[in-house]
Amino acid sequence: MSVKARGMRPLMFAMLLTVATATAVEVRVQLPDQGVDDRLKAFAARSESLVVEWEPKVAAALGVPVERRPKSVTIIFRDMKGVAYWDGKAINVATAWVAGHPDDAGLVVHELTHVLQGYRKAPGWMTEGLADYVRFQLMEKGKFGIRIDPSKNKPTDSYRVTGYFLAQAEKKYPGLIVKLNQACFEGAPVDKVFAAHCDGRTYEQAWAELVPPIKK
Ligand SMILES: [Zn+2]
Repeated sequence: MSVKARGMRPLMFAMLLTVATATAVEVRVQLPDQGVDDRLKAFAARSESLVVEWEPKVAAALGVPVERRPKSVTIIFRDMKGVAYWDGKAINVATAWVAGHPDDAGLVVHELTHVLQGYRKAPGWMTEGLADYVRFQLMEKGKFGIRIDPSKNKPTDSYRVTGYFLAQAEKKYPGLIVKLNQACFEGAPVDKVFAAHCDGRTYEQAWAELVPPIKK
């Protein structure tokens, strides 16, 4: 090995390190000025690691191209009603919810999905269904924690019901989730994209075929 080639090595190593770290999303966590206890700190730390772990997984599941993936994600814990929401700039999480549900950090994966969706005019039930598909089917490994009554529920019920429906449809028609995400992002007619991918089936027809009751 020549002296010159040997001198290249640390530089190449440094470049590789730069590439490796550039792919991990940066997470910024804001805690309230007052009332921060160990439980909230632990929840915030878990949220941060979940975002780092799941940002590439959500991107892969939805087929989000690299240029639309976030370089940083901000999570703000605040005194507010409700659970959590994405406001277009930050994931907001209610501190009161955290106090009552310290094991519910998976909610941040639902909100992270909204960050990567970036939809402008997609149907709300599909947007939420995809976010709960990512959380409960992929992250919680299929544990939706609901009991579906196929005669009362419907595929457009949103959140976990739609998420469960989409999970079954993806198993039967692989590649559906990526197609739906693309349609939602482009503002294309989601029902037509669904039918085109699922051998001409409407949501209701696919629901009737794919959704037996599930146990809690
Ligand atoms: Zn949501």
